[in-house]
Amino acid sequence: MIPVMRPWLGPEEQAAVAEVISSGWVAQGPRVAEFERGFADRVQAGHGVAVSSCTTALHLSLVVAGIGPGDEVVVPSLSFIATANVVRHAGADPVFADIDPATGNLTAKTIEAVLSPRTRAVILVHQAGVPADVDEVRTAHPGLTIVEDAACAAGSFYKDRPVGADSPLAAWSFHPRKLLTTGEGGMITLADAEMAARARRLREHGMSVSAADRHAGGITTPEQYLEVGFNYRMTDLQAAVGLVQLGRLDELVERRRALASRYHALLGDIPGLRMVADPDHGRTNYQSFWVALPDDFPLGRDELMAFLSEHGVSARRGIMAAHLEPAYADMSDAELPATEWLTANSLILPLFHTMTEAEQDHVSEVMHAAAAGRPVRTR
Ligand SMILES: *Cc1c(COP(=O)(O)O)cnc(C)c1O
Repeated sequence: MIPVMRPWLGPEEQAAVAEVISSGWVAQGPRVAEFERGFADRVQAGHGVAVSSCTTALHLSLVVAGIGPGDEVVVPSLSFIATANVVRHAGADPVFADIDPATGNLTAKTIEAVLSPRTRAVILVHQAGVPADVDEVRTAHPGLTIVEDAACAAGSFYKDRPVGADSPLAAWSFHPRKLLTTGEGGMITLADAEMAARARRLREHGMSVSAADRHAGGITTPEQYLEVGFNYRMTDLQAAVGLVQLGRLDELVERRRALASRYHALLGDIPGLRMVADPDHGRTNYQSFWVALPDDFPLGRDELMAFLSEHGVSARRGIMAAHLEPAYADMSDAELPATEWLTANSLILPLFHTMTEAEQDHVSEVMHAAAAGRPVRTR
């Protein structure tokens, strides 16, 4: 079975973890600090605050931005459900906006349609790695706090700079489903030093001095707990893996873009099939290679997924829509035609670093057979 995704981890990551174990310090410590600096430099952001996941990164971003009860936060329904959940975790109200079906992202116009006097912020997702047009949204809605959900976007470019460059607030994921992984893990990158210091405190129970600094500096005065915080820490074990992975990011993106352009060439002759691609304003890392089926495709999306599976290809339904899930039943009447069309008619094809051209040729053959209503010619 050709998987939809496979992380790329090797002996260097193993050695890095072994070294942390030998050091005797496995919790948040020097490796986390190093990974934060390395990652922030890489995306050209002022500060990095490593946390346990992108979900916690997004929640903490809302907290340090001062978003809470009574506030509305615009989010796409077309996203992993954590994007909406974190708004509720912060005690605020998510409001779903529709997306541009070409990119899967919110636009200034779709946000405009759902604004109210209570709207304080927007979580702008770079969906599947495709950069959203951040400047357009900022110019059209100068009063809104923008939190970038860059979970999928490590290595993507917006205009000529990395996604996250000089961003006031961006949240990243290092889950194995993304390009760069630490098993589980996340990061906030941000511009403001005081906000970064507060995020650092809040991820560690609101402590005035971090446990690692206390240990390293031999500090003996008791710590204070300055406000009610969280345990959102990353471990040095994870950060050590992250540092090795960060060194592979260029190679990861280059390989994915080469395979994606091969998909464009291989599948380009299937009538009406639309494939995720670079927008005018940037370059995607192709975190997910989604395709949208034309209305006259011989098989429905779920039938096509079953056909692919029968022939050794593991695909996934396209990006989910939160408002169609039981958890958001109270918001299921939101008017989101582009979201509903894309989530129902798209699927994600296999794309991973170690994918071979023969594997990709097989995916293409099964897709062509499905499109032509003919049997698959076996490998
Ligand atoms: C994966 C993902 C998340 C959640 O990331 P975790 O690190 O698993 O918490 C949030 N938003 C988007 C758009 C994602 O793709």
